Amino acid sequence: RPTLSAALVAAADAHSAHNYHPLPVVVAEAEGAWMTDVEGRRYLDLLAGYSALNFGHRHPRLVAAAVAQLDRVTLTSRAFHHDRFAAFCTDLAELCGMEAVLPMNTGAEAVETAVKTARLWGYKVKGVPADEARIVVAAGNFHGRTTTVVSFSTDPEARDGFGPFTPGFDVVPYGDRAALEAAVGERTVAVLLEPIQGEAGVLVPPPGYLAAAREITRRSGALLIADEIQSGLGRTGRTFACEHEGVQPDVYVLGKALGGGIVPVSAVVSSRAVLDVFTPGSHGSTFGGNPLACAVAVEVVAMLRGGEYQQRSAELGEYLHGELAELVAAGSVRAVRGRGLWAGVDVDPEFGTGRRVSELLMERGVLVKDTHGSTVRIAPPLVIAKEDLAWALEQLREVLAVG
Ligand code: PLP
Repeated sequence: RPTLSAALVAAADAHSAHNYHPLPVVVAEAEGAWMTDVEGRRYLDLLAGYSALNFGHRHPRLVAAAVAQLDRVTLTSRAFHHDRFAAFCTDLAELCGMEAVLPMNTGAEAVETAVKTARLWGYKVKGVPADEARIVVAAGNFHGRTTTVVSFSTDPEARDGFGPFTPGFDVVPYGDRAALEAAVGERTVAVLLEPIQGEAGVLVPPPGYLAAAREITRRSGALLIADEIQSGLGRTGRTFACEHEGVQPDVYVLGKALGGGIVPVSAVVSSRAVLDVFTPGSHGSTFGGNPLACAVAVEVVAMLRGGEYQQRSAELGEYLHGELAELVAAGSVRAVRGRGLWAGVDVDPEFGTGRRVSELLMERGVLVKDTHGSTVRIAPPLVIAKEDLAWALEQLREVLAVG
């Protein structure tokens, strides 16, 4: 007889599209940094829903905010006002040091919105001739899965078979200031960057790169758009990864942790002058900015305002990177990158793929996810206990030692 897990995996496989290749664990419950599967086995979550679960699973403050809102009103659409919208926009704008918010639901939608914002701003404010706006992006980017967003992906897996693509994007190597400078021209309305490239393997650009991007865009009158969907909201030890270089972009694109791991919430945050390019009817979303989303996000922002999650990420991150540096020194892994509680670990391809390491860790009760061949990413909930993180790293050490 197959186990319940195996039966559920088989049933899901039979009736779902196979656009993912999940590890064969079937989660039934979760709390904090721990998940429990349908057979009652416990797993430590070192992925945190690709950073959507920065505050852990079912954080009591976030659950309380959601439950209270479920008892009042959950959806109005933007055809009417509701009483949580003002707080959401005001608080989020303030957290970002900006003035205005355009809410959406998923990360990809927010990136699409940022692209539309930049184009409209380019035509209305910068004076770019109609339909000639260009946006500079970086090779290796990951900004989501919609047709326009994969149009400027350089990953064949994400792109192939989905053309014809949306024009208007110029791709430059990530981390190369000279290439960026050369690509920005009169018709460039924006430079869109991940301050740290997550899906590419947690790639941290060379020091000074973000500051240079800021300087280049300021000089040329283009918007600097920081996609902090994965890097933002505490993950790197600061509220935003841009802060590590003292950079304030013109536009933040946020998602993932903004919804507290409970509801999808994303947003484009910018100045009044930029977001004022939109007029009624020019953009929207039925669910964007709904009362439930706003109630949870207001609580997320309140939790970040205190700074303790960022602090925790910085402190535990220092510990994590110290331990991982020892693995590099011992020759168990090739390289480690990252910031705060976020790391990309390149295992020796001779040892096996990142997938193989993830499977071996799963057998030991630790859940991570591979990315691009032999890279394993580590991004636990920021609420993880230090002892639990130490135990997970011990499992990693043993997995790599036994081969
Ligand atoms: N941008 C970045 C930097 C991301 O890491 C992701 C998701 O991994 C996205 C955009 C897309 O977000 P979503 O999956 O919510 O559409």
